[in-house]
Formats: sequence, C-alpha cells, structure tokens
Amino acid sequence: MANAKLKSARSEGLARCHTCSMLNKLEGGAHHGLCTRCCAPVHFRSHNSLERSWALVIASLVVFIPANTLPIMTVNYFGTGTSDTILSGIITLINLGMAPVAVIVFIASFLVPLSKILGLVILLITVNRHSGVKPVQRTKMYRVVEFLGKWSMLDVFVVAIMGAVVNLGYITSIEPGRGAAAFAIMVILTMFAAHSFDQRLIWDLKDNE
Ligand SMILES: [Zn+2]
Repeated sequence: MANAKLKSARSEGLARCHTCSMLNKLEGGAHHGLCTRCCAPVHFRSHNSLERSWALVIASLVVFIPANTLPIMTVNYFGTGTSDTILSGIITLINLGMAPVAVIVFIASFLVPLSKILGLVILLITVNRHSGVKPVQRTKMYRVVEFLGKWSMLDVFVVAIMGAVVNLGYITSIEPGRGAAAFAIMVILTMFAAHSFDQRLIWDLKDNE
C-alpha cells in the first residue's frame, strides 16, 4: 500500500462539497467554486484549516494550565471545605486507598487531554513541514484524537452531577471549582481544533511527488 501510486481527488481537479459531500470538478485551475448540487462553496481543502487548528491548539494548551492548577471541585464536609485540583484529587484518592479509581481519573483527566493536545501538535507540525512520514499512522492518530474528543467531557459531567446530587446542605456539598470551567473550555477548544484540522492535508505531499 505504501508503494502504491496514490492519487487524490485534488490531483484530478475534484473537490468534495462540505455540505452535501458531492464531488465537484473545479475547472481551469480554480481553488474554489460552488457545488453544482447544493450551491454551497467548495474548496479542495478546508479554508485556513491549519491556522485555525494551530490557534485553537495553542489556546487549549494555555487553558490546560489553569485546568490543572485551579481547584476542580470543593468538598464541604461538616462545614470544612477542601479544594482539590485534578492532580491533588488523584493523590487524595490514592491516600484513601482507591488506587484503581486514581488510575482511571489520571488517565481520563490528565493523560488523555494532554495526549490529545500533543497529538494535534504533532499532526500540525508534520503537515506544516510537508512530512511524508507514516501518513496512514498519522491518519489513524487523527481519528483517535477526534474520537476521544466527545468522551473528554465526562469529567465535567461527573463534577456537575456530583454537585447536583451530593448537596445535603451544611453536612456535605460539592461545588465545582474554577478548574472545572477551565477544563471544559480546554476540552471544547481541542474538539474544535480537531474539527478544524483537514485530515486530507496529511496526504498532500504524496500528490506532489
Ligand atoms: Zn453540495
């Protein structure tokens, strides 16, 4: 497969409509046009895909810092409140003898979001450099990043549900912290970054060869 002569729709002058997915022939070297079926704008590649993805990835990296340094929730128990960030919460779980839960939280709340951002950075750098290294693997990596996107909000839902359910007034209550809001913003930014990235760019170098 790696040695097969790869042909793309772009090299044949064909562009897929973003709205109805119909392949349109763009004549005379034009880079954009209108879909012959639904009249939506048609481009060979998503417009400014790399720039938008880079901006969103950098923003998510910035928000990653408060998401991990600000308290994600505060547990009030008999009038005493303890605030925990994601990482300090993991240490608390270990101290409470709940190591398996701590591992799950560490993977879901720290490792996965960080891997997603790093995965996007790797994709963007390699596309920027027109790298021809392992396009199949990079395409698979993109799919994993995109798939993980929708599951990363689980954390925020857990905090929101616990805040709503565990609310026994003075005895016990759980309040979401500012870290939870930062975490939610980070997840949304990475989802948009992955969505903005046009995965066809990974294959563009092959077309030029
Ligand atoms: Zn169309």
